[in-house]
Amino acid sequence: MVPKRKVVPIRPASPKRAPALELAPENLNPYQFALRQFERAADYLSLDAGTRQLLSQPKRQLIVSIPIKMDNKKIRVFTGYRVQHSIARGPSKGGIRFHPGVTLDEVKALAMWMTWKCAVVNIPFGGAKGGITVDPKKLSMDENERLTRRYTSEIAIVLGHDRDIPAPDVYTTPQHMAWIMDTFSMTQGFSTLGVVTGKPIPLGGSAGRNEATAEGCFVAIDEAAKRMRMKLKGATAAVQGFGNAGAHVARFLEEAGAKVVAVSDSRGGVYDKKGLRMELVNAAKEKKGTVTAGRGQKVSNSELLELPVDILVPAALEGVITRENAPRVKARIIAEAANGPTTPDADDILRGNGAVVIPDILANAGGVTVSYFEWVQDLYSFFWDPDMVRTQLERTVRRAYDDVAETARRHDTDLRTGALILAVGRVEEATRLRGLFP
Ligand code: NAD
Repeated sequence: MVPKRKVVPIRPASPKRAPALELAPENLNPYQFALRQFERAADYLSLDAGTRQLLSQPKRQLIVSIPIKMDNKKIRVFTGYRVQHSIARGPSKGGIRFHPGVTLDEVKALAMWMTWKCAVVNIPFGGAKGGITVDPKKLSMDENERLTRRYTSEIAIVLGHDRDIPAPDVYTTPQHMAWIMDTFSMTQGFSTLGVVTGKPIPLGGSAGRNEATAEGCFVAIDEAAKRMRMKLKGATAAVQGFGNAGAHVARFLEEAGAKVVAVSDSRGGVYDKKGLRMELVNAAKEKKGTVTAGRGQKVSNSELLELPVDILVPAALEGVITRENAPRVKARIIAEAANGPTTPDADDILRGNGAVVIPDILANAGGVTVSYFEWVQDLYSFFWDPDMVRTQLERTVRRAYDDVAETARRHDTDLRTGALILAVGRVEEATRLRGLFP
């Protein structure tokens, strides 16, 4: 399962690297730091220049204009993206993000991370990602629906259950996935459940998909804690971001007996060193739209990262742990529920301080794993019960953790580099076996 390759020590920067990689680390955008991580794994695998170029660039990049009629009858045009990084191991797979900060480079990074993530958990998908530069909180439900449907029709030329399969990401929900499935089906003339995952259960969604990212993250934290002989019962934790990924991780940690002392969302965070009760945090979020309306001392999102806790779960956006704040991060386990929360320089600092960083492509792979189960169920029109989903998810994440830890051990490196060596190795092998067309 783990590719057997010669162990080669990391080499100094190759003169063939793109000039963007020579930028000062604090100026790197997500795609540039995804490239840095890739180069590190490519060095270990001794990949040649051509293969590096092939694996580091997206296969397809689609930019679309999305005109919609707003509720006030005026037309607004949004920009949307769909990037397919690789289809070497199967159809491409990846979420759709609605956020004002979405850029082509961010989507390219997220698509590349999806390729590695699917390879780490060894599911037969390549990587893709999509997004629209929009603040969805400023749209009505009807505007959200029109935006989603028009975006789907614009990118439908590259979608399909055997081509490219979207899923939810930041500020998109099962309802958005239902609109995507319906719009795509209208262009086909029949219902194609398998074109998108993360759907509501009555439309071919899977039991357990909603909590899957968090459940996989919790299983990964449990594995890390066991290996470090840390007991989850009584351990303290802080969670940044209280959406699909963060809110459920916080709940699972609480259920395991950990003390969740801080949580946050886009409006800031709350902290109580005696521990917050997730039931009350959820109630505040539901009632007032933010966790900051609940009990606890107010903390900013950056203060939360530096709290004295055993476990830190960044579960919002990328690039939040940098070389500037990394020396002050005290957690012993950092579980990346979010994609790309740690910059490459910060990684080195955290590692130097003895922290275990469970990398995003492992820590949040539970989401795409259950998306894969959903796709399988849709194609078979045969649906599993929740226990089957949970058992298969846990088995997949524990096996992936073992594979990653073993690869890291063999190469005497950290878990992120181990995960990337494993993933890039698998994708490179598939690419090599397929050969180049024509
Ligand atoms: P979500 O929309 O459900 O929740 C996002 C949360 O982050 C919200 O609580 C929001 O208030 C908060 N947030 C937004 N901006 C913030 C900021 N600047 N600082 C702090 N908090 C902020 O999104 P999600 O699906 O939970 O995704 C969160 C992260 O997890 C993303 O990086 C995403 O790519 C990753 N992820 C999600 C899934 C999934 O299945 N949903 C799978 C893998 C990875």
